[in-house]
Amino acid sequence: MELWQEMLRQSVDSGKDLVERFGFNGELAERLNKLFHIRINPYYLSLIRYPGDPIWLQCIPDAVELEDDGMPEDPLGEDSHSPVPSIVHRYPDRVLFLTTSQCSMYCRFCTRKRKVGDSSKINMKYIQDGIDYIASRPEVRDVILSGGDPLMLTDQNLEKIISGLRAIPHIEIIRLGTKMPCVLPQRITTKLTSMLRKYHPIYINTHFNHPWECTPEAKRACEMLADAGIPVGNQAVLMKGVNDNADVMLELMRKLLFMRVRPYYLYQADITKGANHFRTPVSVGLEIMDKLRGHTSGLAIPYYVIDAPGGGGKIPLLPQYVLGRNGNQIILRNYKYDIYTYPDVEDPGKNAAYSTALPVEKQFSRKKRPAKKQKVYEPDKVPEP
Ligand SMILES: *Cc1c(COP(=O)(O)O)cnc(C)c1O
Ligand code: SF4
Repeated sequence: MELWQEMLRQSVDSGKDLVERFGFNGELAERLNKLFHIRINPYYLSLIRYPGDPIWLQCIPDAVELEDDGMPEDPLGEDSHSPVPSIVHRYPDRVLFLTTSQCSMYCRFCTRKRKVGDSSKINMKYIQDGIDYIASRPEVRDVILSGGDPLMLTDQNLEKIISGLRAIPHIEIIRLGTKMPCVLPQRITTKLTSMLRKYHPIYINTHFNHPWECTPEAKRACEMLADAGIPVGNQAVLMKGVNDNADVMLELMRKLLFMRVRPYYLYQADITKGANHFRTPVSVGLEIMDKLRGHTSGLAIPYYVIDAPGGGGKIPLLPQYVLGRNGNQIILRNYKYDIYTYPDVEDPGKNAAYSTALPVEKQFSRKKRPAKKQKVYEPDKVPEP
């Protein structure tokens, strides 16, 4: 057994463990474990500094999780974009391939709680159906191995999947979405990296949310991946009490770059049953973005996105930098709120009011096409999985 597997076995992994380790009431602990499985491996547990700190909030369950009744279990409408159970195919040229339901730490804010932790449906056929689907769709050029955490698979099983994908001629890049560099960096071994590097181009997106997660162990894991020629990006989630603060976020982004990890996305928290206590107003996210851009390296700036409820995909949000237009002059403000004008070239849309909401082509075609009814999200109308 490898070290990381041994560490996993020592996880806080049940309601009973919560009672013994953290003095939870037994009935509450069982209800929380039933709502979403509890698992905290000893490495991540060791990062907690005091009860209720940003590490604690991400892994120790809270009674408020039980209050979110009526919230969707599948907020992103993934199940409706799922041609076979292991695949989510929402965008034209890329798919998510859900290869396992297991994680080395179950994040209390997880969006995919309805699937994660339940391994009953995952077997050889489940995986093979995913590979067959991808092989049958020549427009798919990018496969994102997700889950769960694909690095919960053994190196051998992971290699079977990756080599199966590499045998498909139209697959250009393979990505892994894994939280391991953050939650169990011991998973990144030279055995793993020498396997992965045989299948380039491989990309990894990992998931750090707080500067305290940027430990020497995590740094070493990220550097090993980078040394194997794998570009590593980070997808963070904006969460109340964890990182809803510009100074914390700035520190996180700088630490990530120092570990050779490039910030990629900052997600607005999804509306997920049992996780709404983590949500912050969008204005908080925009304020954080405003305090990053210009104030630090452009490389440290992620895209702030809302993953549209119901399955519209990721939509980027920016603070308002375009203040308006005066004839040919576009009026802008910089990161210090100084005003500048940029003389635009002759614009076919010169008679239209300048709008940042729609690209020029859409503003013009709007007259010809009848306006589509706006989709308004109503939580109770989301189809049950
Ligand atoms: C996020 C996501 C992707 C990948 O999106 P990129 O913007 O290319 O990183 C692909 N499919 C689904 C369903 C996703 O949610
Ligand atoms: S690692 Fe990802 S899939 Fe697993 S519990 Fe955390 S957010 Fe969910």
